[in-house]
Amino acid sequence: MDVKIKFLGAARSVTGSKYLLEIDHQKILLDCGLFQGRKELRLRNWDKLPIDPAEIDVVVITHGHIDHIGYLPRLVKDGFSGKIICTDATEDLMKIMLMDAAKLQEEEALFAFKRGYSKHNKPEPLFSTEDAKLVLTLAEGHPLKQEVKLTDRASIKFYNAGHILGSAFVEMKLRGDRQEKTIVFSGDLGRFQDPVMYAPDVIEQADVLVVESTYGNKVNPQVDVEEQLTKIVNEACDSNGALVIPAFALGRTQSLVYYLNKLMTAGSIPTIPIYIDSPMAINVTDLYERHAEHHKIKVTNQGGQLISIFDSPQIHFCRTRESSKALNEIKKPIIIISASGMATGGRILHHLAHRLPRSTDTVLFAGYQAEGSRGRDILEGEKSVKIFGEQVPVNCHVREVHGLSAHADQTELLEWLANFKKAPKMTFITHGEVESAMAFSKLIEEKMGWRTQVPEYLESVTLFEGI
Ligand SMILES: [Zn+2]
Repeated sequence: MDVKIKFLGAARSVTGSKYLLEIDHQKILLDCGLFQGRKELRLRNWDKLPIDPAEIDVVVITHGHIDHIGYLPRLVKDGFSGKIICTDATEDLMKIMLMDAAKLQEEEALFAFKRGYSKHNKPEPLFSTEDAKLVLTLAEGHPLKQEVKLTDRASIKFYNAGHILGSAFVEMKLRGDRQEKTIVFSGDLGRFQDPVMYAPDVIEQADVLVVESTYGNKVNPQVDVEEQLTKIVNEACDSNGALVIPAFALGRTQSLVYYLNKLMTAGSIPTIPIYIDSPMAINVTDLYERHAEHHKIKVTNQGGQLISIFDSPQIHFCRTRESSKALNEIKKPIIIISASGMATGGRILHHLAHRLPRSTDTVLFAGYQAEGSRGRDILEGEKSVKIFGEQVPVNCHVREVHGLSAHADQTELLEWLANFKKAPKMTFITHGEVESAMAFSKLIEEKMGWRTQVPEYLESVTLFEGI
């Protein structure tokens, strides 16, 4: 039996995760992500895959971020009809994430049509809501640490990766004619000490390892999130204004609620209303209660009702546009958590348009703000930003909290690798910008003496021959 791997994404970049395994005539795709970010990367989503999707037998998904699942609807549209294997929580998350992604694709196509980018043809979305619905009919969720048979030659087990709800790394066993081999795919690994997510599981053996390197060249300084939030929330309350937090709907919102609730319970900050104003964040929060085994937040079943910190009396969910708009009328200390995290779209824009000019209010950024995003402009002290076509003056307080990243840093990645009893025959460094992947590759070679390779986009490598 011969085994080859082809890197169809996340090779010298952080998005578009897709690794194709060719096991004699069987084909398994590991992750099926969308390219995001720079235009030349996004354009790759429109390139024809170097393989006919109908020939792929099965897809395995590590977690529900769009750069790991966002190409699935296109794959299905182009002919894939096999199973999509993931963890049970990821299966539920995919419903939320892919329906939202499809809506965005449809809106983008409509926008291009209206703007006349394409005069002769009606621009088509990359995929539609119907394609996303088809994906969900193929998805098959499994618990962690249970063997799942993919083909007569291959099986996998999911292990907790601690990155987001339901995230896993994958141990794949390949049964050759003479030997059995193991390939481990790290997916995205989380932090080792997080109050909400468990540390990534330990794994000790692999013949071949594919490891992420998002922070392969970065050590995150140890910072105290609670201390920072205590100061920021108290100051916001002292100015008698609202604290508006742009936050990603998946993960960041729930972590913030965890911290704020803890600080309120301890009396470190006043107990004021927290409004979660993002339909996606509300749906994702429900999944935290349904998949309690995937995180540390306590969930109890009280007469058939799942109860957790998210049901605390000071936490309110804005389920309608009206309830979202009604927040504008509140002129006393409140906390509003809304998406998107970089203030590039979503309901947060309404809040910013309303709150940025007010000197009593505070805007708090809780994560990385990409260059060119509205969030970055505000954070860097722009006097005004454009929202809904109008220049909005920034008179409010602008704050930032560090230490909420969901990615293992360099030290933690190395710690995870140190669990291996012996060096894999080859370690592929993926899912990192080129500087990060290269630096991490060099570090592993020097520190651990392992053989590493930083694959190129579309590079194909033979892993095993005649096994
Ligand atoms: Zn991720």
